[in-house]
Amino acid sequence: MKTQQFDAVVIGAGAAGMAAARTVASRGHSAVLVDREGDLGGILLQCIHNGFGLHRYGEELTGPEFSSRLERELRQAGVPFMGETTVLSIEPNPGEGIFSLLLSSGRGIERLRCRSVILAMGSRERNRGNVRIPGDRPAGVFTAGLAQRLMNIEGYLPGKRAVIVGSGDIGLIMARRLTLSGIEVQAVIELMSYPSGLARNITQCLEDFGIPLYLSHATTRIVGRNRVEGIEIAPIEEGSVRYDRCRSIPCDTVLLSVGLVPENELSSRAGVPLNPVTNGPLVDSRLMTGVPGIFACGNVLHIHDLVDRVAEEAERAGSSCADWLDAADSGRTGGEASADIPLSAGKNVRYTVPSSLSPSREGTVLFRSMVSLDRAAVTLTQGDRVLYTKRVPWVRPAEMQRLDIPAGILESAGSGTCFLALEDGEAKR
Ligand SMILES: Cc1cc2nc3c(=O)[nH]c(=O)nc-3n(C[C@H](O)[C@H](O)[C@H](O)COP(=O)(O)OP(=O)(O)OC[C@H]3O[C@@H](n4cnc5c(N)ncnc54)[C@H](O)[C@@H]3O)c2cc1C
Repeated sequence: MKTQQFDAVVIGAGAAGMAAARTVASRGHSAVLVDREGDLGGILLQCIHNGFGLHRYGEELTGPEFSSRLERELRQAGVPFMGETTVLSIEPNPGEGIFSLLLSSGRGIERLRCRSVILAMGSRERNRGNVRIPGDRPAGVFTAGLAQRLMNIEGYLPGKRAVIVGSGDIGLIMARRLTLSGIEVQAVIELMSYPSGLARNITQCLEDFGIPLYLSHATTRIVGRNRVEGIEIAPIEEGSVRYDRCRSIPCDTVLLSVGLVPENELSSRAGVPLNPVTNGPLVDSRLMTGVPGIFACGNVLHIHDLVDRVAEEAERAGSSCADWLDAADSGRTGGEASADIPLSAGKNVRYTVPSSLSPSREGTVLFRSMVSLDRAAVTLTQGDRVLYTKRVPWVRPAEMQRLDIPAGILESAGSGTCFLALEDGEAKR
């Protein structure tokens, strides 16, 4: 069996993998990028709408345009790409500081040996089984991302009259895409009392096309013998589904946009501990997982709304990985348990990434709110002490928030867990 050796292997060649691999290589370490698909770009390749890159490049790009910018940066750094190659397993060898990866491709089974691994395997869509929609099992039920791939890459139309279940960004973008292709979009149905997608997508993909959004509605049945004939929905009032007020919507196609799940089977099998809230690896302030030498970034770590944030996070993971390799080269281990202070989600916060903060460096925390607040206050506390507070104009569950904690804030903190919480900013005034 053929075996090659690199300083870092990056698994997944989407936005996260490309940005991470380029960063490691630009620091003088050998890196290779591996993807089961033949092309670089990951999910970006099927996102032909614009709206990518406003933060990173200051322009509105399509997914493939954003991808080709990252690809150019990657090529300049001279990172080799192993396409159509699936990583089957990651075996850590703790004593030697070497990982052994098993790969499968048209060339057969191969091994890669490396000193560090960056996980960038992205996510997969939740499907009908995951959300347990009762009813018949006809043809015509797709996940929104699959329908997007069928239309934008394979050139097929999924149907003529569609209903979208779930108001996640992919579903909203597909509502517009279907409408522009002549498919009648009857409605978008959302279980929660608020949309799961970005506000800009509600405006640009639904309101601009007159597509109704039913909030606080359950999808109670899919109907159809061979092909979908319709769905039944019912309002939710005071926490109960009002089956007595069920109504039918005729359609031949149902698209499910009910969330993404980080793709972590490989990580779990390698012994990487996962966060039960995000389903992504638990990481410290360096974005290093619980297995020393394995880093994570992008949708495999937690689900992002903006690719700009994915690329930025991946550069931080790549840079930490390069620090780790530098430390090993100079005889420092770099990989012992870090002196980080644990960080947990407090009031109104669903999760934080990372799960710990370095007392000696500035820190970036990405987090999601559980509530919608205008003029909120983000607070970092330890015991009774408020270590840091920042006011933000608003928070929404659908939009990831970022908090930059200046260097020095944690220098005087103890070793106890810090909590990140959201307070109503109005109440604090
Ligand atoms: C439909 C959709 C619309 C979006 N719209 C916008 C938008 O308008 N604006 C915006 O800023 N952001 C948008 N986003 C968000 C953003 O594009 C994504 O968050 C980002 O591209 C994810 O990048 P990633 O590298 O983490 O994952 P991915 O792009 O999913 O890449 C993961 C890669 O890992 C590979 N892989 C997985 N497992 C293995 C394995 N075992 N071996 C080898 N390879 C493996 C996969 O083949 C894949 O190529 C959208 C996302 C989606 C899904």
